[in-house]
Amino acid sequence: MTDAYHILKVALDVPLDRVFDYKTDKANTQIGQYVAVPFGARKMIGVVVGISDTSAIESKKLKSIIRLDPEVIFDELSFKLFQFCSQYYHYPLGQTILSAVPSRLKKLNTKAMAKKYLYRLTPRAIKLGVDQLPPRQTILKRIVMALIDANLLDESSLRSISSNWKKSIKTLHEMGWVEKEEVTLDEKVYIQASVPLLNNDQQEAFDEITKTKQAFKAWLLYGITGSGKTEVYIRLIEEALKQEHAQVLVLVPEINLTPQLETHFRSRFEKNILVTLHSHLTDNERLTHWRLAKEGQAQIVIGTRLSVFTPMPHLSLIIIDEEHDASFKQQEGLRYHARDVAIFRAKSENIPIIMGTATPSLETWFNATNTKDNKKFGFLKLTSRAVKDSALPEIKCIDIAKSSVTRGFSPYLIGAIKDRLQKKEQSLIFINRRGFAPVLLCSSCQWTGRCHRCSSRLVVHLNQKRLRCHHCGYDERMPQQCPSCGNTDLYPTGLGTQRIEETLKEFFPEARILRVDRDSTRTKEALDDLFLKMKNREIDILIGTQMLSKGHDFPHLSLVGVLDTDQALYSPDFRASERLFSQLMQVSGRAGRANIKGEVYIQTAFPNHPIFEALKTHDYEYFANELLKERKLAELSPFTFLVLLKAEAHQLSHVMEFLKDAMIHAQKLSTHVTIYNPVRPIMERLKGMERAQLVLQASSRVALQKLLDNWVPYLREIKLGQKVKWVVDVDPLEF
Ligand code: ADP
Ligand code: ZN
Ligand code: ZN
Repeated sequence: MTDAYHILKVALDVPLDRVFDYKTDKANTQIGQYVAVPFGARKMIGVVVGISDTSAIESKKLKSIIRLDPEVIFDELSFKLFQFCSQYYHYPLGQTILSAVPSRLKKLNTKAMAKKYLYRLTPRAIKLGVDQLPPRQTILKRIVMALIDANLLDESSLRSISSNWKKSIKTLHEMGWVEKEEVTLDEKVYIQASVPLLNNDQQEAFDEITKTKQAFKAWLLYGITGSGKTEVYIRLIEEALKQEHAQVLVLVPEINLTPQLETHFRSRFEKNILVTLHSHLTDNERLTHWRLAKEGQAQIVIGTRLSVFTPMPHLSLIIIDEEHDASFKQQEGLRYHARDVAIFRAKSENIPIIMGTATPSLETWFNATNTKDNKKFGFLKLTSRAVKDSALPEIKCIDIAKSSVTRGFSPYLIGAIKDRLQKKEQSLIFINRRGFAPVLLCSSCQWTGRCHRCSSRLVVHLNQKRLRCHHCGYDERMPQQCPSCGNTDLYPTGLGTQRIEETLKEFFPEARILRVDRDSTRTKEALDDLFLKMKNREIDILIGTQMLSKGHDFPHLSLVGVLDTDQALYSPDFRASERLFSQLMQVSGRAGRANIKGEVYIQTAFPNHPIFEALKTHDYEYFANELLKERKLAELSPFTFLVLLKAEAHQLSHVMEFLKDAMIHAQKLSTHVTIYNPVRPIMERLKGMERAQLVLQASSRVALQKLLDNWVPYLREIKLGQKVKWVVDVDPLEF
């Protein structure tokens, strides 16, 4: 008897770790097709992840699918990647897949590609130059400057400059400044971009990577800021693309960084099809780009973390720029780390992966330098700046314990800013404003409360008048006087950004000051505007947070002042000093990039702290190795692996009861995993929810994973779990 139907195993976007059976009479269904199915009283969209002739469900009870989408959205290799992520991060397969592929969009006419144009400046425009544009036309100006940089821009790059780009391009066209040309994907446009000769370091890195045959190998490309990592990426991509049908994936941290890299890449890969994937694209563009990648047509894909999942049938090289950047870690839903997923992917597709950075994460540093482990990663160094005569800035510490600080500023820093104002150079005041918890500090001997069980500082809980360890839960009364010297002047540290702006305005009423933060530069337009203003010297003093520390060039910036680092030195988060160091390295890299000498002033009460000693000599290696010793002693990452169970509910008692149940069960499951007591995180309450968390720690990833395999299903069964919202974070970056 021939059965008239097949059973489809369908993964749905529901928080259940199972697939669902449906029947269909369609014969040639494939894994990776979208499907609409009845689910309870609703209709849901799911993905076919298996096809079978049998089901554990009685055939009478089996429901039929409603509709099947003809497009296959992922291949076998991508499916393997999803399965790995689902298992490793203990997140249901259906939710993993559906968060990794673009949501099924309303029937767009995407097969027929819309006409695309590229835009360039006319010779006349190049001769005239930006200064000949009518005044106050900032968008026109920005577009022209971008065209000067990139030679040729496509629509999505123009849109990233301004949402109003069409009107501006029309104006420029009418003025005879811009010409456009239609491109089909087959037609190739050749543009000459200047190609520097590789210096010795770059050549060595290139040779080393390319001499090994095409196979899996993870490489750390460790190069100081300005050492020319991008040029090495470009050469490697060129090399990879010499093979027929090759594709390259380039992962970048944040969208704010993409336009610069993108225009640079475009000018060098004019012959190739390059697409970007990030959240600033329209749905339509995103789908078009993604399809070009999936169908093997796009040779270069530049994208943010999610693009690590893009199906690419001919993938032959992965590059991760700014490997250490925390934005590669997704902090909700599927809590994956794009770098780690990319390494798994490279391994499973047997291709090389290059991780470039000036300040590697300690995990990567360890993998690249630890000789015992037979060097898991290849290790390559670029030791000098690529552009001649561009020196690293001089870094100085200002001891604020010894100087009279007026509302956050020492006279030295004020003097340095004044000097820059006179010289018409720019200053950047950098504030490390991450949500650090206050730490109690003794004003006379710099004592701070330390936990005796962890390598962490105790956090001030002013309301309860207690000091607490956020790592293990240790807790003590807040002392009235310094336990070390008896001084009674103990204070929690902290400074506000607005206050800093006001202070600077009072000191320098004539200066043009701009404060930037996540809120004021939410859009790329705002950020581009900022860069333009800096470039045109319309700003004298910039006040900013870590978002400014990334790879932007400010040619007229010669002073960086760093305030408020000491909280980070004594943060309860064990990664705080690693982050601080990398931020300060990056932000120092902003000063004096071109031909003016840069200076960095760091205000601190601890000028002799090893972190500053290492910074002054630009010695990441020394710092990283010291930090590794500390981590080893404290049994922290990369020597151990961590898992965080985070829970929240309206009632604290529910959260605690849930976590205790979870803890007791975990203790039964493994003897090789350390299970800590439930603790409150720094943000004890968020949006009206009471929060607490539990840390698991093990020196073996396998032991930890084995425990999770049994533990997570148990968590799903805990009754109280319905009143409690919880998530499991594997390899958490934040606590
Ligand atoms: P990184 O990414 O390592 O911080 P970049 O790739 O941005 O450094 O390079 C810094 C500058 O050096 C860029 O302006 C780049 O064009 C230039 N550059 C790179 N390689 C060379 C080279 N071999 N010769 C001359 N200039 C170079
Ligand atoms: Zn003291
Ligand atoms: Zn502790």
